[in-house]
Amino acid sequence: MITAQPVLRTISVPTPFAVGNVNLYLLEGTPLTLLDVGPNTPEAYEALEMGLKQYGYQISDIEQIILSHHHTDHIGLVERIARIADAPIVTHPYTKPFIETPQEARLRHDAFFRQICAEANVPHEMLSTIERTNAWILRFSNLPIPVARTIDEGDTILAGDTKWHVYHTPGHAGDLICLYDPTSGTLLASDHLILKISSNPVIEPSPNESGTRPRRLLEYIHHMKRIAELHPQIAYSGHGRPIQDVMSLVETRIAHHRARAEKIYTYFSDGPAHLWDITERMYGHISQSEKFLALSEVLGHIDLLEAEGRLVREYYQSVVYWHQA
Ligand SMILES: [Zn+2]
Repeated sequence: MITAQPVLRTISVPTPFAVGNVNLYLLEGTPLTLLDVGPNTPEAYEALEMGLKQYGYQISDIEQIILSHHHTDHIGLVERIARIADAPIVTHPYTKPFIETPQEARLRHDAFFRQICAEANVPHEMLSTIERTNAWILRFSNLPIPVARTIDEGDTILAGDTKWHVYHTPGHAGDLICLYDPTSGTLLASDHLILKISSNPVIEPSPNESGTRPRRLLEYIHHMKRIAELHPQIAYSGHGRPIQDVMSLVETRIAHHRARAEKIYTYFSDGPAHLWDITERMYGHISQSEKFLALSEVLGHIDLLEAEGRLVREYYQSVVYWHQA
């Protein structure tokens, strides 16, 4: 039976990360589906158990697990939950390697990131700090486990009596999917759109072995507009409260990125600069553990300015410098 309105329960669980709690969504009906599972901590597990109990369920009742993207706060508990529930895991093809072969995925990411840092003139101590932080984050995921089915742009998936349309929306993460129910106008946005936080477009290698580095902020802006044009009635996020007015939030986010890009542009008025230069000038005050996100943020906006033809790159002793066109 397909119901007009999805029955959706929000279960907020704690994470050890700066972002705070993460929202998991229980989609009631057939198959009883859990969207995202939370980090692998005793506190998150207990909060999930309590949340399910509140609606009359336990973990073993879950019939399907969907993962929105590969970030640890969303997937850490997946092996444990899938094992107890004996439930299939469904996710995007780009999420699959992070779940099935996490060591290889991590080595690939680290090798790529070292290359980015070399080109950006990031000091060695800082690279070590970033790698230690990334390794610490991965301690909160318990993997590997096989993925039963992959879903991609244009597919539909039945979850909790609702046929959800899948949208692949790279930006915050290259593998992120949103699920949309056009009948009720309900969007499950994960970290693509968050009410109180402008999600970072995170530096990642290409999902294809030979591909060039994805221009994540450009993709992000493109897919935010695309999702806004669906005119969702309501969007449920990976963090924080639901979004009532998706269009105006997207306009705010795009205006924010525009302003940030203009600010970054002014840092190049004194002449050529590399990524680490600009990151330190803008974010010198933030803690070392946050420098990876700061690098991602600055590089995203440099990509935007470069795509607009306002910044031009040049290599000097294998470091990438940009200057105003
Ligand atoms: Zn995320």
